[in-house]
Amino acid sequence: MAGVLIFGEVKDGKFKKTSREALSIAKKLGAGDVAAFASDRAVAEEAGRYGAKKLFVASIGPYTTETYASALQQAIAQMQPSIVLFGGTSNGRDLAPRIAARLNVGVASDVDRLEWTNGKLRARRPVYSGKAFATVEVTGTPAIATTRPNAFPAVESGGGAAEVVEIPAPSIEAKAKLIETKVPEAGELTIAEADIIVSGGRGLKEAANFSLIRDLAHAIGGAVGASRATVDAGWIDHQHQVGQTGRVVSPNLYIAAGVSGAIQHLAGMSSSKHIVAINKDPEAPIFRVADLGVVGDLFQIVPALTEEVKKAKTH
Ligand SMILES: Cc1cc2nc3c(=O)[nH]c(=O)nc-3n(C[C@H](O)[C@H](O)[C@H](O)COP(=O)(O)OP(=O)(O)OC[C@H]3O[C@@H](n4cnc5c(N)ncnc54)[C@H](O)[C@@H]3O)c2cc1C
Repeated sequence: MAGVLIFGEVKDGKFKKTSREALSIAKKLGAGDVAAFASDRAVAEEAGRYGAKKLFVASIGPYTTETYASALQQAIAQMQPSIVLFGGTSNGRDLAPRIAARLNVGVASDVDRLEWTNGKLRARRPVYSGKAFATVEVTGTPAIATTRPNAFPAVESGGGAAEVVEIPAPSIEAKAKLIETKVPEAGELTIAEADIIVSGGRGLKEAANFSLIRDLAHAIGGAVGASRATVDAGWIDHQHQVGQTGRVVSPNLYIAAGVSGAIQHLAGMSSSKHIVAINKDPEAPIFRVADLGVVGDLFQIVPALTEEVKKAKTH
């Protein structure tokens, strides 16, 4: 057994950023040849550029757990990799434990560091809302891990197109089928992959005021995030929720406005590279993790910031 296989997710004929990140760290590990699995052969050239020698392709359409698990399992059986990596997206986090259970091997989830030493995969995982790190060694072969979005830089390594290996579509009777896919509004970035996130909390007072957050996010080129309180109130969809029961994100810049910084929210964003908090309460716990804290009324500060960003962009 040798090499690293990554589960590649394709959108509009290109790998998602998390898949490019997984490919890049796979290459860097030095655990043998790198290959990718995907449902679209259009990414063969891109897979090669990010270090993959082979691309296992199963033409199985949009994601469904059982079909993808069976097709990926076939690719694993063919390649016999030492390691299988998944980007920490919804699909990656859905598939990784299922594959681990099918193969009866260990899985390290949400890792932000990986090392391959003496034939063992060692991974670092943030725990207790990023206050501590656990280093774990994955038992069984292949070793499986899901990577935290934005934790590993996506770096091209300059190879030619990956060799395409067809995987036949599994003939299984899936117990669940895809009925409908809801696509985010045109131009809206998803928080999982965004470099910048602007999040709103209950301090916004009502749903309509999320427009302040959206305006700033659009001006600065970021995605819109939210606390659970606002999602539970029905002000915004759950896909925007950051935290323990939402998404774990690590953008370069996280701006939180009217978010108190409850432990469950911090669990989802405290590993962000730079954190800016806007809150009228100087004692708000969000300030404990913030690099820059602004004590004041978000209804004044957020629109002013949006104007400044727009002005800066026109110069
Ligand atoms: C099992 C479990 C899981 C959970 N999972 C999550 C999760 O995934 N994500 C999550 O976010 N929460 C989660 N929670 C909920 C969490 O405990 C908090 O209740 C929630 O995060 C609070 O949201 P908030 O900060 O928007 O609201 P609040 O805590 O009500 O904070 C509002 C903040 O806005 C400030 N504010 C008010 N007006 C203004 C103004 N005009 N200008 C500036 N600031 C203002 C206030 O000072 C306050 O700090 C979970 C809870 C449990 C029990």
